[in-house]
Amino acid sequence: MTSLKIVPHPHPALRWKSREINRIDAELKQMVSQMFELMYEARGVGLAANQVALPYRLFVINPTGDPEETDQELVFLNPRISRRRGSEEGEEGCLSLPEVHAPVIRATHITVDAFDLTGQQFEMELEDFPARVIQHEYDHLEGVLFTDRIAAEHLQEAQPLLDDLVVQFRTMQESGEMAADDALEKELRRLEKLRT
Ligand code: ZN
Repeated sequence: MTSLKIVPHPHPALRWKSREINRIDAELKQMVSQMFELMYEARGVGLAANQVALPYRLFVINPTGDPEETDQELVFLNPRISRRRGSEEGEEGCLSLPEVHAPVIRATHITVDAFDLTGQQFEMELEDFPARVIQHEYDHLEGVLFTDRIAAEHLQEAQPLLDDLVVQFRTMQESGEMAADDALEKELRRLEKLRT
């Protein structure tokens, strides 16, 4: 398997509505372990498959962000948020949108169910920060970025950074360092067929 990379905005994978995974195998486990590595390297607390250009309903989290605390690692396959309660504003950032930070309103309590890497279904109730992380990662699977949920004034503040990311991405595409959008989309559709 080729090594995964965190892809920046505006990579089309970040706007992809991901498909459910129907098969857990060694390659998928390998992807998950690479996702944890990339997440820790980037000092993140969560990473969704879309962020590494994989069109699958899968994300990993470790709310401590500490690679030593492996007991805090959680893998969610085909997750579903069945209940959301309360609401609170809190600062968010995203590994796909470097340097952009803004407050987002999220539910304070959620119930989520998903499958783990052994194919076992589980249900969890989470609150506060871990609940926020899961809502943020779940949005990625729907092709939603946290900047879609921020107030107009904050979006305006973030706009120059977002514009810069677009310029950098288009420059990489022009230089051939990154494939063109239609080729990237074709690859996402190919990957989708492999596992969904
Ligand atoms: Zn994110």
